[in-house]
Amino acid sequence: MSIFRKKERNKVQPKWKIKRGTLDFILESAKSTFPNEFGGLLRVDADEKHTIKEIMIIPGTISGDSHAIFKLHMLPIDFSIVGTVHSHPSLSFHPSDADVLLFRKFGKVHIVAAYPFTTFSWKSYDYNGKEIDIEII
Ligand SMILES: [Zn+2]
Repeated sequence: MSIFRKKERNKVQPKWKIKRGTLDFILESAKSTFPNEFGGLLRVDADEKHTIKEIMIIPGTISGDSHAIFKLHMLPIDFSIVGTVHSHPSLSFHPSDADVLLFRKFGKVHIVAAYPFTTFSWKSYDYNGKEIDIEII
């Protein structure tokens, strides 16, 4: 555990927000990809660093029965990307061990959408897999 990580943990986390339309897009994408998984990146604008406005679908996301594994080498270097989103074809929106390992490597906010992909079947997590709130705006 580096000193950097310790400092980061003690810092007050900013309140994350997501546009309703962006959330709808996630849920629709998860539905249309079902029973396979869908994976994407969460993007913000430079002037609103904590409002998720756009989803970038990752080409080469592995779809299947297991959890989506992102090919990290395919991720673009882009500071507007703040985290990841993926779907679970099951009722569980809890991140798997593999999910948490990914969260720790990349990004600050992560969304998991679970079947049946309604407004009530998704959750968001920080880099350590701890549940956090995202306000829908
Ligand atoms: Zn997962």
